[in-house]
Amino acid sequence: MSGTRGLFLLFTGNGKGKTTAALGLAFRAMGHGQRVAMIQFIKGSWKYGELESARRFADLLDFHVMGRGFTWKSDNLDRDIAVAREAWEFARATIAGNRHQLVILDELTYLVTYGMIPEQEIIDTLTARPSSMHVVVTGRGASDGLIAAADLVTEMCEIRHPYKKGIRAQKGIEF
Ligand code: ATP
Ligand code: MG
Repeated sequence: MSGTRGLFLLFTGNGKGKTTAALGLAFRAMGHGQRVAMIQFIKGSWKYGELESARRFADLLDFHVMGRGFTWKSDNLDRDIAVAREAWEFARATIAGNRHQLVILDELTYLVTYGMIPEQEIIDTLTARPSSMHVVVTGRGASDGLIAAADLVTEMCEIRHPYKKGIRAQKGIEF
C-alpha cells in the first residue's frame, strides 16, 4: 500500500445523485478546513440551493457557474464551443492555481461527449494536477478514456425516479 495522494473521482450513470455526491464530498472536506472549488459547466434555469449555500461557506468554497454551457438545442454551435472552451480554461487555471484541496468539475463529461473539448486534453490536465489535489468529475455518459483515467468510478444506476410518476422537481431535492 502506498500513502495518500490526490484522487480523480468520477460519478457517472443515468441515476440521480452525481452532483449531490460531489456536494457531499465538498461538505465533508470543508469540515476539515479544506478549500473547495465547484465549477458547474452547465447553467440551469433553477435557483440552485447549492449556489445559495455556497455564499454561507464563502471562506472555503469557491462556486462558479460557467456561462451558458452548451445546449443540444443550440442554434449557434460555434458560440457554444467558445463558451465551453472558456469554461474549461477557467477550470485549468483553477487546477493549476493549486489553492484548493478539492476541485469539482460538475457535468464536465458532456464537453467530451459533444466534442467540444478533446478528451485527451482533459485527461492530460487532470493527470498533471497538483499531487495532493482531489478532483471530481460528474456527468452522464462518461467517455471510456475518462473512465480509464479515474481512480474511482461510481455509476449511478437508476432503479426508480419520481419523475416517472409525474412528480415534478422539488426545492431541496433537485435544486
Ligand atoms: P443531482 O443533481 O440531483 O445529484 P445528477 O447530478 O445525478 O442529479 P444529472 O444528470 O446532472 O443528475 O441531472 C440533473 C437533474 O436531472 C436533477 O434534477 C435530477 O433529479 C434529474 N434526474 C437525474 N436522474 C434522473 C432520472 N433518472 N430521471 C429523471 N430525472 C433525473
Ligand atoms: Mg448533475
